[in-house]
Amino acid sequence: MSTGWNFDNTYKNLSGGFYSNVEPMPVEKPELILLNNRLADELELNFSGIEPEELSALFTGNSLPDGSEPISQAYAGHQFGHFTMLGDGRAIIIGEHVLPDGKRFDIQYKGSGRTPYSRSGDGRATLYSMLREYLISEALYHLGIPASGSLAVAKTGMPVYRETIHTGAVLTRVASSHIRIGTFEYAYRFLSHEKQKEFLDYTIKRHYPDLHEADNKALALLERVSDKLLSLVLEWMRVGFIHGVLNTDNMSIGGESIDFGPCAFMNGFDPGTAFSSVDMNKRYSFSNQPGIVQWNLAVFAGTLLAFINADRNKAKEAAEAVLKQFEPKFVEEWHRMMGKKLGFRHITKKEADLIDQLISWMEKTKADYTNTFLVIAKSAETPDHFRTDEEFRNWHSNWESLITTDHNGLNEASKRMSQSNPVFIPRNHLVEEALSEASNHGDFSSFNSLSDILRQPYRQDWSAADLQQVPAGFDKEYQTFCGT
Ligand code: AMP
Ligand code: MG
Repeated sequence: MSTGWNFDNTYKNLSGGFYSNVEPMPVEKPELILLNNRLADELELNFSGIEPEELSALFTGNSLPDGSEPISQAYAGHQFGHFTMLGDGRAIIIGEHVLPDGKRFDIQYKGSGRTPYSRSGDGRATLYSMLREYLISEALYHLGIPASGSLAVAKTGMPVYRETIHTGAVLTRVASSHIRIGTFEYAYRFLSHEKQKEFLDYTIKRHYPDLHEADNKALALLERVSDKLLSLVLEWMRVGFIHGVLNTDNMSIGGESIDFGPCAFMNGFDPGTAFSSVDMNKRYSFSNQPGIVQWNLAVFAGTLLAFINADRNKAKEAAEAVLKQFEPKFVEEWHRMMGKKLGFRHITKKEADLIDQLISWMEKTKADYTNTFLVIAKSAETPDHFRTDEEFRNWHSNWESLITTDHNGLNEASKRMSQSNPVFIPRNHLVEEALSEASNHGDFSSFNSLSDILRQPYRQDWSAADLQQVPAGFDKEYQTFCGT
């Protein structure tokens, strides 16, 4: 029986400069560790009946499916504010898999060896970090947040040298594309005007074909990508997700979360939370994320100016008008989103005031960003420290009055709230325990049970609620690492 691959590799039709032809470097002892059946189904791929050795070879790049044409993409990007030439240094796109309805997905091996863009890197990835990406991308999916998917993780049987020696692995990543703001920066800095135009048209055709008819396609693309990334960052803010490395090369034009190496979820509310070990100045902290996305969009706009208007001043004016809308739009949408978390049907000054009061109380008390909303809805038991906190008690009784008078009562409100407030998020301590047991000892029991819990994050099941309690002091010491 056939697996169902259906490749149509349009990126390869772009003219020279956008990619390099590459081959995955063979691995010594391929061994499939995880296969994502949910995603396989979505991709209409069927791996049942295929021998384990064959699957292991496939998901390490030792063998390639028919129709694949492996490439690595060129891109650049602003990393922590500084422009750098980058590219797929340890990733190979084997092709674009297309579903009968026309939906197109890049299939990418991450950790599959050196490429022309590897610079001093080894092109490899550790099992730990590929399992991390698998776990988090699934968690985001089930939270309802756009993200690249993880189809499989396979061990290479070869050591990867970091601070210590790790087991190597390849992740098969799936995304609507890997076009980044950084890909536009690359074209803008290093390729001709004609090639930039070709890439603009390609991107519009691939992601937003309805914009083909727009009077000003480049400006329309800027607007669309702004809206997409605004919605994305708003979703991160809803669940306390901190991407951790929001460089322009990690911002997808399709509006999906990608490249979340050092990402983590916030527990106690502190807007300045940043877990990444390299983010010393907290540039990518929780509350900086919307502003950083706007900054990244300004970089994107800079690459499009020549196509917005031949007159550079007019082009800048038009782009700035789009960029200027980001902040007020975000503030409005953020209130709407927070309003849903609090069960409001609409937002007037009264609701906005209650939102602001709650946020400042949470900041002061470092209240848990997930559990607090469950307590407010009275879904979860009210812990003593909430009960004894006079400010919270007052706030809650004001909230309850408003819910009763203006929002159809607590019953309806808590139904609304349950759709916006997860009960289960990937708590950092659980993630680390699961990853360490799986990658160091090959014991997947914690990994599997955590994956199960995260499959239904909105389920109001209090039997596992103790898992959501963070060990005292854990976050203080917690650090995440990128690119491992
Ligand atoms: P990231 O931090 O994963 O977004 O990666 C930033 C850049 O470094 C990208 O160009 C990656 O391809 C490259 N890179 C990260 N890790 C490696 C590695 N082990 N070998 C080669 N290139 C790498
Ligand atoms: Mg990256």
